[in-house]
Amino acid sequence: MTDSGATPTGSTVEGEPEERYDVAVLGGGLAGLSLALQLKQARPETSIFIAERRKGPAPLAAFKVGESTVELSAHYFGEVLGLREHLEADELPKAGLRYFFPAGDNSDISQRVEWGATALPPHPSFQLDRGRFENYLAERNLAAGNDLFDGCTVEEVDLRDDDHVVSYSRNGQARTLSARWVVDASGYASILKRKLGLQKSVEHKVNSAWFRLAGGLDIDSWSDDPVWHERMEGPGIRRLSTNHLMGEGYWVWLIPLSTGPISIGIVADPRFHPFDEIDTLDRAIDWLLRHERQLGEEVDRRRDQIEDFLRVEDFAYSCQRVFSPERWALVGVSGCFADPFYSPGSDFIAQGNTFVTDLVCKDLAGMEINKPAAAYNATFLGAFETLLGSVYTDQYQLWGNAEVMCAKVVWEFAVYWANAALPFFHGKLTDLDFAAAVRADQRRMISVSSRLVHVFRAWHELSNREFRGVFISNRAFPALYQLHLDLAAGFDDETLKRKYAENADLLEAIAVVIFSQAVKALPDQSLDEDVKINPAAISLDPERWEKDRLFGEKGLTLAEARRKTLGLENMLLDEIAQPV
Ligand SMILES: Cc1cc2nc3c(=O)[nH]c(=O)nc-3n(C[C@H](O)[C@H](O)[C@H](O)COP(=O)(O)OP(=O)(O)OC[C@H]3O[C@@H](n4cnc5c(N)ncnc54)[C@H](O)[C@@H]3O)c2cc1C
Repeated sequence: MTDSGATPTGSTVEGEPEERYDVAVLGGGLAGLSLALQLKQARPETSIFIAERRKGPAPLAAFKVGESTVELSAHYFGEVLGLREHLEADELPKAGLRYFFPAGDNSDISQRVEWGATALPPHPSFQLDRGRFENYLAERNLAAGNDLFDGCTVEEVDLRDDDHVVSYSRNGQARTLSARWVVDASGYASILKRKLGLQKSVEHKVNSAWFRLAGGLDIDSWSDDPVWHERMEGPGIRRLSTNHLMGEGYWVWLIPLSTGPISIGIVADPRFHPFDEIDTLDRAIDWLLRHERQLGEEVDRRRDQIEDFLRVEDFAYSCQRVFSPERWALVGVSGCFADPFYSPGSDFIAQGNTFVTDLVCKDLAGMEINKPAAAYNATFLGAFETLLGSVYTDQYQLWGNAEVMCAKVVWEFAVYWANAALPFFHGKLTDLDFAAAVRADQRRMISVSSRLVHVFRAWHELSNREFRGVFISNRAFPALYQLHLDLAAGFDDETLKRKYAENADLLEAIAVVIFSQAVKALPDQSLDEDVKINPAAISLDPERWEKDRLFGEKGLTLAEARRKTLGLENMLLDEIAQPV
């Protein structure tokens, strides 16, 4: 076991920075360190400078949030960067994302509707101790020959037509160096975004407060019910998940860390839970006692084990541009951040870094980068804005509605595996010809997503029923689970294109079945099983149905949709349980 972080070595190179580099990375956090490693691996002769403001190694456990990875970022860290050994030996395997919906006063976890895995998934993901992982990344950068300097603060960047100039201070001395590329990886400091006025505010408003609890916490200890325990294929599975305790306007994360503690965070929409109810440790615990009783009582009893407390208000934001042909780029949260629900932060790091690596390598090889830079910007920011709008914005009111959320989670997993993760796993992110070939199928998926947002919201307004004691396994719908299995199938280009088309068909069928469930909440409406439904025209507004040509022309019948989605009914609450 490489116990990175335990010693003060390995976080910096000796001596002083050179006067010139190919690439200067501003900030040695998760995004900057992983980008520098990726670049060096892609083009070993590249000279890379990394400035990290913090002096010495990162502390373990209570350091930064961003501890949970999902398939795409796990693949990036494990396979693209080649860190699988560290991840398996020194971080924790993750048993997927798990959701618990409200039951009464939330004093008995076994009564809450549970959605999640029964075992570790075939394609791994990991829970990261950020201090341990960043220290390991630092060691790997140094071993690869990158010039990582700690205690090194970037003060100013002068973007020029020839080499850019970076002014920094280190050991009390102000200095400059030049670099062909400057990549801002400074996190919330957002050095280039501020300098260039690229900030873009977003409609999504959400706040968070979090802390680490020494000794960890296993929610399995919250119930003695043997039936509830037997849902899992073995002990410890729930503990290894990112557990989400869901309620109206909020969710609470529980993420175990390999160094022992558990990370606990509240994420709340201020329309339902004002920031001043969670912005101090005492208030956050009071809030937990009111809304998440079992967790609140445990934390209250173990106050002396709380290691830190941090909070952030209104943390979602966007950016006008992240990659420039003028040889600068923004990666990690220096550019955009949406919401930690579904843990997309590291996925965006993986994708942004992969785009930047490609641009830098092309440029240093003397190739033209105007066209790819424009295309990568459009892809990256388009994906970000789509995620923000279709998953998060004005949707926290749904979070406690088990029936609607079970359908929404199925949909969002399907889109994630079919559209976001599949091309990344197959190394297709920067292949513009491939992107053009699958664009029509991608658009089909996205246009259905944009209709479902409204369906989910309207469904919630019509119906919010409580269900109890139900478990939904994420393997209950075989075609959905197959999307996960397909990720590392190693499809050739032609098969992958065909998969895209098949996946778009599957997603349209899922949308039609979900729509049929939602329609049950409308008074006096029912669907004819044998009339075609256009998935890109679904809504819960019957007055629009004719105008939108919802029925009879395009799409597929409900009967066809059900045949294509056998098993989906096992994941829809109204099909498998009675409300209380
Ligand atoms: C509430 C919350 C929960 C989250 N949960 C998750 C999650 O579960 N999973 C996930 O993937 N993501 C999550 N995220 C996002 C996650 O925090 C980011 O993905 C990740 O930390 C971003 O890494 P980064 O390298 O961009 O920034 P950082 O890790 O903050 O790194 C930036 C670095 O730049 C350095 N720096 C700053 N200014 C300067 C300067 N002037 N000179 C030199 N160095 C400088 C800093 O010291 C720092 O080390 C969450 C975010 C929030 C707000």
